[in-house]
Order: sequence, then C-alpha cells, then structure tokens
Amino acid sequence: MPYGKHRDFISKPIKSGRIGDPVFGAWIKELRENNPTKRVYDIDPYVEVYQFRDNLYGLLTHILDTGGGLVWMWLIVGPEKAMLIDTSFGVGDLKGLVGEITGDMPLIVANTHCSPDHSYGNCQFDRCHSHQLQAPDMEWKQDEGIRHYLTDDSGKPIWVEFDPKDFVPFKRYEFVGVPDCHAFELGRGYEVELVNIPGHQPGHSAYLDRQGRFLIGGDAFPAGGLTGGSNFSADERHARDKFQGSWLPSEDSMRKCTTLRDALIRLSKRLGEFDRIFCGHGIQDLDSSLVLELIEACNQIIADPEAYDELRGDRRLKKLPSGGYMPYFKNGI
Ligand SMILES: [Zn+2]
Repeated sequence: MPYGKHRDFISKPIKSGRIGDPVFGAWIKELRENNPTKRVYDIDPYVEVYQFRDNLYGLLTHILDTGGGLVWMWLIVGPEKAMLIDTSFGVGDLKGLVGEITGDMPLIVANTHCSPDHSYGNCQFDRCHSHQLQAPDMEWKQDEGIRHYLTDDSGKPIWVEFDPKDFVPFKRYEFVGVPDCHAFELGRGYEVELVNIPGHQPGHSAYLDRQGRFLIGGDAFPAGGLTGGSNFSADERHARDKFQGSWLPSEDSMRKCTTLRDALIRLSKRLGEFDRIFCGHGIQDLDSSLVLELIEACNQIIADPEAYDELRGDRRLKKLPSGGYMPYFKNGI
C-alpha cells in the first residue's frame, strides 16, 4: 500500500513509467497521504476526489497508457449546474461519481483537448463541449476501438492494472464546438469561460472561473505545453493506437511553441482576472505568475531550440525556474 491512512484508488501500475520530477513526487505523496479532503467513492474506485475550494473538486486518476502517470479532471459546482472539465479514459463510473458529489445537479461536460487521458470518457455523457477547432478530432475519435490499445490481444491491461469489465460501454455523444471566450452559465450569473490556448493542440482550451478567480489550464501548464509532434509509431505506447494525435499534422502552425507563447501573452493581459491555476498534470493550485514564466521559457526555446536541459526520447525538456519543465519537440518551434 503506497499511501497511508486514506483509501487509494484501485488501479496500480504494471509497467513502471518514466522517473517523475522529484518535487512533484514529494507534493503528490504529501497530498495522497495527508490531505484531509481525500475520498474514494464506492461508485468509482478508480478516482481519488480532493476538494480544493468550497465548490472545486480535483478528480485524480491513473493515466492508463503509462506506468504510474496521473491525470486530473476538475469539477466546478455552480449555483444551479455543475461543470466537469475532462473525462479521462472511460474506466469506472465517472458519471455516477459526479452525480454523487453534486447531488445529481444538471451537468455541463467540457474538455481541454482530445487526448486519450482527457476525453476518452466522453462516451458516458450525452453531450460534451470544447473549442470548435477540436471538432474534427473529437468526431473521428468517436469509435468503439479508441481504448483497445490499453489492453493486449488477450484483453489484459498493459500499463496499469484495471478490470476491463469497468470500461464504460462505448456510445456516440454529441460534440458541441464553441468559439473562444464562450461563457458557460452555471446559474445566477456564475460563468466559466473557455479560453483557447493553442500549441499543445490547435483547439486546446483552458477554462476561466471568473467568480472563483482560477483557471483550469489543461495541458498548457506546466508539465504539458508540449508542442509539435512525435513519431508515435516508434513509441511503444502508441504503436497499437491508431487514434492517438490529431487530424492536423504535427508541423501545423497551431501546434508550435511560438503559437503557445503568443496565446500565453494574450492570457497574460488577463492576469488581473485570476489568481491560481489548476492543470491536467503535475502540482496544482499554482500562482498565476506561472504564465509569465512559461512565456519566458517559450522565448528561450524559440531563441535556441537546441538549448534543452534534458532529452526523453525525442521529447526535449526545458527546466522552469520554479520547478517542473516545458516539453517540446524539435519540429514544434
Ligand atoms: Zn494530458
């Protein structure tokens, strides 16, 4: 049992993944061992629920296509409606869990982007929203086979132990693409605004909770930010996954470090509107000044793409002064 007094989610890594950042390792250990809000509900034992604000829950689960990686989903409980941002892989009853936390409030589901760890659970909901540039990717990934790569030919999980019987059945859902700055209404004037931050993917989006003064940043922050593309077929993890990636080629201008930098500059003009950032991976509840640090890191990468601090496969890592790193690919400048 890796973590003490509280009950943990039931999934366990089979293959050990890459060595994580030691600062993140210390942070997540402290959170999982000692955070008093931690709870695992019987209805979905694949998720650890943490309460970060009165009306903001972080839902932590395993990345099922790496050994030991973690991904966060975010649940905002508004006055009349709740909003779930990201849906992970679609193992376990996430819909039931959210209903239990919110007391079955009406729910808006949205995605930061279409990667498997953020959107493959969409099929348990009737309707999901994201930036309109996500539409082609969200549509072509509406396929029974999207999660097949997580198990081997005999149906056994490859990277993380879970019961394949807990896959939520595949069904088509309605994808609703919305423009940049679209506001989702959670009742009585409570608004959450979609903020398009391309780079990781063209339609990658953050969500700004205006009342709570926080930003759900997805994979634009800080361990994300990944720009450009990789040779996925050369990567063991994706060799079986024909649905990985985007319909846009990795060389597309909307997947560049320069595009991400420019989007972050636009976001930096709005630093007066939020104080904290929550992300898809890594340490949470970060100071909003991180936006400025990422702009500086992008500028350094653009000025000298060869001056990376670490190389993992074809993924280059630029260390950030406050910890963490900005990953990018050679073709993503
Ligand atoms: Zn991710």
